[in-house]
Amino acid sequence: MTTRNILIMPGDGIGPEVMAEVERLIAWFNAHGKTRFETARELVGGAAYDVHGTPVTEAAMEKALAADAVLFGAVGGPKWASVPYDKRPEAALLRLRKDLGLFANLRPAICFDALKASSTLKPEIVAGLDIMIVRELTGGVYFGEPRGITNLPNGERRAVDTQVYTTHEIHRIARVAFELARLRGNKVASAEKHNVMTSGLLWKEEVTKLHAAEYRDVELTHILADNCAMQLVRNPKQFDVIVTDNLFGDILSDEAAQLTGSIGMLPSASLGARDAATGRQRALYEPIHGSAPDIAGQGKANPIAAILSFAMCLRYSFAMKAEADAIERAVAAVLDQGLRTGDIMQPGMKLLGTNEMGSAILACLAKTV
Ligand code: NAD
Repeated sequence: MTTRNILIMPGDGIGPEVMAEVERLIAWFNAHGKTRFETARELVGGAAYDVHGTPVTEAAMEKALAADAVLFGAVGGPKWASVPYDKRPEAALLRLRKDLGLFANLRPAICFDALKASSTLKPEIVAGLDIMIVRELTGGVYFGEPRGITNLPNGERRAVDTQVYTTHEIHRIARVAFELARLRGNKVASAEKHNVMTSGLLWKEEVTKLHAAEYRDVELTHILADNCAMQLVRNPKQFDVIVTDNLFGDILSDEAAQLTGSIGMLPSASLGARDAATGRQRALYEPIHGSAPDIAGQGKANPIAAILSFAMCLRYSFAMKAEADAIERAVAAVLDQGLRTGDIMQPGMKLLGTNEMGSAILACLAKTV
């Protein structure tokens, strides 16, 4: 029997509530599946700050580095609004991304048929939507040097951020996108601004070179990032995989998220480089929503984003495609039965709490596997 080590970091607010449902799912797979999941738990974010005075301890970082995958809930909340900047809950996530070398952020935007009316776009525009945004996560303008604010002799102030990418950074993120496309619709749209940015020009040239050398079987198009933003609301189903830099990816992935109707439904994965010798690839999976302080502790949170993040973990870290498919089918089936949490509630549907939604998904899973 294969053993997989998972570190669970529930975090703050609704983080522990939605992760509890993921842990029930893991327990179910341990009882019924062929893989043994060994789990450990660590505090993170405000919860870790309250106990240890830091949002992530060195011991937790060691466990995250050693784990086959990290499942992360959410961090933050008004309770920690005035803690020192370097101790704020969100600093834990930045440290994890940096130390684990998580350069590729995968953000699927899937519209479940039962929820097509929840989108702000017309149902026919979003029905059947299934796109994957691959965002570069550790480079670009959020990290480029020089950066900072300087005082000018004339009394004005001047701010600089630097957008910077190297061939290596472009190739490794484009490679993730091409490999993913081969498992999906076999199409990649690469979004940049080569018309006004030299980093965009390099991005376009290098993606083209890599495509010609190794991925000719995948259909590649180049699209200006501003046009991509427009096409996402005009005709989002034209896209399969979109690959883009850190800044444009931040914006385009949030725009795509909105197409699907609810933040409580959307998973994400952040992947590192695959070690050529061992085949190991560090990875962290998390719902895209935050700690939702407004509903925390009330048993109302939608656990589906966290559950679908676990499905991504099975698919991308453990090559357990059948099990990942089964979870996604169970979620779709529960929605088709008219079961809803508050965030996705519609007239005539049945309202469930976090735990009841987890139970409904488990019950469907048990029937289909
Ligand atoms: P949020 O995602 O926490 O909440 C936005 C809205 O969506 C709220 O009304 C909330 O009730 C609702 N919502 C979110 N997830 C839901 C779910 N699973 N089920 C039902 N409803 C859900 O964003 P926010 O309010 O801007 O931020 C709250 C805190 O979370 C802040 O401290 C912020 O810094 C933090 N945050 C953390 C992460 C992370 O841990 N990765 C991401 C975003 C925000």
